[in-house]
Amino acid sequence: MIVFDDVEKRFGDNVVLSDLSFTVAPGEHVTLIGPSGSGKTTILRLLMCLESVTGGTIKVAGKYLSHMEKGGKLVPADEKHSREVRKRIGMVFQQFNLFPNMTVRGNLIEAPTRVLGLSKDEANARAKELLDLVGLGEKIDEHPSRLSGGQQQRVAIARALAMQPDVLLLDEVTSALDPELVAGVLKLLQDIGETTDITILCVTHEMGFARDFSHRVMMFDGGQVIEDAPPEKLFSEPDHPRTQEFLKAVL
Ligand code: ATP
Repeated sequence: MIVFDDVEKRFGDNVVLSDLSFTVAPGEHVTLIGPSGSGKTTILRLLMCLESVTGGTIKVAGKYLSHMEKGGKLVPADEKHSREVRKRIGMVFQQFNLFPNMTVRGNLIEAPTRVLGLSKDEANARAKELLDLVGLGEKIDEHPSRLSGGQQQRVAIARALAMQPDVLLLDEVTSALDPELVAGVLKLLQDIGETTDITILCVTHEMGFARDFSHRVMMFDGGQVIEDAPPEKLFSEPDHPRTQEFLKAVL
């Protein structure tokens, strides 16, 4: 579903990712862990076409995002093409990023009507169903500012699901929440993981969640994957000294 092949991403002289290659199979849940600044968010932003590679190739569902041609010429993703890919990818951010001037309903029906061409009735029905799923059916006509952080994040998750994505990217979605709200959002994600076949790529500092939720965990350092293993292996018997050191600090 997702292929990174020899990807490089630099910002000026700062090489954030180099020679990065990995694949994620359809339906897989993969968690990215690693020290701050190791490039985890950059990987998600590349997939959302919010950034372009400076080398190598990224493919989603068989389609190129940006890539290098033979001879080293960078071919940016075609705009129409990247719009198509973006439609299939949902992203949930640390800071919710709901549209503050719209109600919860407005947040959920905006993209499905505008981008997918659903009728208002269809989009409303989908919004209602998803809000019930995330336990917020009665908040449909509220504005986001009247919801708690945990509720806003549930709405953000419902909004991402309203596009019926093939791929869901989760970027530290519980980091901005009060501690007592974290468990509810993680439980919701666990349920979504168990009841859908969406491919999920997740950046999190919640190691307990990563252990329960992931099929694979990839440890990043120095712009590369230094260890890639099922969570039972990576958290219990990591091979790489850097993974051992990182886990000792965070567990
Ligand atoms: P954290 O766990 O702290 O969120 P991360 O692993 O997600 O970190 P990234 O946010 O991907 O790391 O950042 C990786 C590096 O890329 C950092 O050195 C950061 O300063 C740099 N970087 C990210 N975005 C930009 C940008 N738009 N312009 C310049 N440098 C950037």
